[in-house]
Amino acid sequence: MQKTIKIALDGPSGSGKSTIAKKLSKELDILYLDTGAMYRATALKALKSGIAPKDEEAVSGFINNLDLEIKYENGSQQTYLDGENVSDKIREPQVSMAASDISSLKCVRLKMVEMQRKIAAKTSCVLDGRDIGSFVLPDADYKFYITAGVEVRARRRYKELTEKGFTVDFDKLKKEIEDRDYNDSHREFSPLVKAKDAIEIDTSDLDIEGVVNAVMSYIKTR
Ligand code: C5P
Repeated sequence: MQKTIKIALDGPSGSGKSTIAKKLSKELDILYLDTGAMYRATALKALKSGIAPKDEEAVSGFINNLDLEIKYENGSQQTYLDGENVSDKIREPQVSMAASDISSLKCVRLKMVEMQRKIAAKTSCVLDGRDIGSFVLPDADYKFYITAGVEVRARRRYKELTEKGFTVDFDKLKKEIEDRDYNDSHREFSPLVKAKDAIEIDTSDLDIEGVVNAVMSYIKTR
């Protein structure tokens, strides 16, 4: 059997992980799993059901029967919730903070991690998230921790959202990113951390193409 390759990409919001992961998946012809989309879909489920994302009792009531499916259509990940394609809906700004809140619940993380490991077990893949190298795939072949200053990350997210047609207030967005960073790195269970054996890359002053090339050459020479 041919050996599979697993790549973990972690880091805070807007660091460039998803752009890098998409390019790596194309270059190496391996599956890309955006794990943030799964937390976003879970948050959307709570919002739609009128459940507060931090209400552990109420969330634990639906999490084990969550109808969440990740499909690949024309090579791109599509997220389905209760049979509906919610890939665009989960990008809406109000879902971001709810995702950060709901992702701090242990019952949610255990469910997501179980699904992620199942998807990753079958094939060569690159996963991006917050806890991939430290918890989801501790034995990944390559681990990268992608960072960037908060101002740069806020500018990137602002551009992405305004290009999608959302009206956003830059200062509010930046504050929200800071709050999410805090939430994600201070939660008790499986927080955002750089895995001990991860290579850290600060993308603040780098163009993403340069980062992809650096990561690719690292992978090819090992
Ligand atoms: O990466 P993205 O911004 O789409 O993720 C949304 C939220 O999901 C993050 O703010 C984080 O709280 C949570 N998340 C997580 N663990 C992951 C991926 C995302 O806690 N592996």
